[in-house]
Amino acid sequence: MLLQNKTIAIIGGGPGGLTLARLLQQKGGTVKVYERDLNRNVRTQGATLDLHENSGLKALISANLLDTFKTRYRPGAEKGRVLDKAGNILYDEHETSGSEIDFDSPEARPEIDRSDLREMLLDSLAADTVVWDSHFASMVQADGQWEITFKNGKTALADIVIGADGANSKIRPYVTEIQSSYAGITILQGNVENAKTKAPRMYELLNGGKIYTHSEGKYLHISAKGDGSIDFYVSSKTDENWAKDNSAIFSDRTQLNEWFKTTFTAWNSVYFELFENVDLPMLIRPQYCIPFDQTWEAQSSITLLGDAAHIMAPSGEGVNLAMLDALELCECLTNPKFEDLQTAIAAYETPMFQRAAEEVTTSCEMIEWMHGDNAQEKLINLFKEMGE
Ligand SMILES: Cc1cc2nc3c(=O)[nH]c(=O)nc-3n(C[C@H](O)[C@H](O)[C@H](O)COP(=O)(O)OP(=O)(O)OC[C@H]3O[C@@H](n4cnc5c(N)ncnc54)[C@H](O)[C@@H]3O)c2cc1C
Repeated sequence: MLLQNKTIAIIGGGPGGLTLARLLQQKGGTVKVYERDLNRNVRTQGATLDLHENSGLKALISANLLDTFKTRYRPGAEKGRVLDKAGNILYDEHETSGSEIDFDSPEARPEIDRSDLREMLLDSLAADTVVWDSHFASMVQADGQWEITFKNGKTALADIVIGADGANSKIRPYVTEIQSSYAGITILQGNVENAKTKAPRMYELLNGGKIYTHSEGKYLHISAKGDGSIDFYVSSKTDENWAKDNSAIFSDRTQLNEWFKTTFTAWNSVYFELFENVDLPMLIRPQYCIPFDQTWEAQSSITLLGDAAHIMAPSGEGVNLAMLDALELCECLTNPKFEDLQTAIAAYETPMFQRAAEEVTTSCEMIEWMHGDNAQEKLINLFKEMGE
């Protein structure tokens, strides 16, 4: 097989990198994952993630992890409520859909907390697969291998490098000169711990699921998490420097409260529960996206997957695409029909480019309608269509 006597270094232990490590190990591959987090207990931020039949769930089935997933996903977490800024419930999935997920249905979109997905994937790997505290700094090719240097001064050798290091990938420049560009929106993300006590009205309204509010060009996405916290983010159209110019506000309680009152005038005080109790600093995430027509020539010892390959503003598919990339890359690298690694990597990259181009189109369309005047009506109609 192509991977015989080859050492694979996956840079980045997110959902994409860990899924690939698991799949390759099942096929006998020699893999290390180099992750910048100091250890596996570093808190993973972010909302719950829904996995889809043709991508995330498909990868989990191939990784023999569907049964484990069924013990860790959160039934009901996928149910959403559309609220207006006054706090009125305009559409309620708790009333329109049942509680059991049918895993055989193409519409199944079970939700799992990001930290649980990571735990589950980590537990599935051979001992010492992940090398923590390995923040990639640079690498050079010498004698047919990659010599990788990390910020802590340590080095590693690998025959094949996979960049799975997310939005600001440091591996990407070794693969392509194509850069992403600002997508036009910036996301502010925060977490309220112990939400039942700190944000009781919002906790109750969430009912274990999600809330979506669109008003005045702002999109507020709120999720209940399994650890009793609430994750929320606000996205809005701003210029690229807005985050840099305003970062002080989001690490200072007094400034944040003032900003909320002036930016969310006439919003119901239930929303204030979030900003008043959010852990500081809030994360400020300007969103970037790749060009629609991105391609590059395949190399024989390096490629990218997930956000490193195709960053775009959230469209609800990012994790699913990363896991599908992992599945298809593993299938190509271990398929005996390919004569050499470059051909195998090209066979992985060609459909990956196509998928990314389609999804980045959707993502850009979503930016427009989700921050437009009719966002609320459009979302309600989408929910109604899905419910029928
Ligand atoms: C606000 C927000 C909401 C989102 N909501 C959803 C959603 O609901 N559903 C969905 O499917 N997607 C969602 N996404 C997108 C999703 O989070 C990403 O697409 C997905 O996490 C990509 O997975 P990945 O494995 O490619 O990269 P990541 O999850 O970013 O993982 C990259 C890993 O690499 C590590 N790393 C980074 N740099 C280095 C380095 N130099 N050296 C070593 N390690 C490094 C990081 O610590 C991390 O562990 C959302 C994104 C945002 C910003």
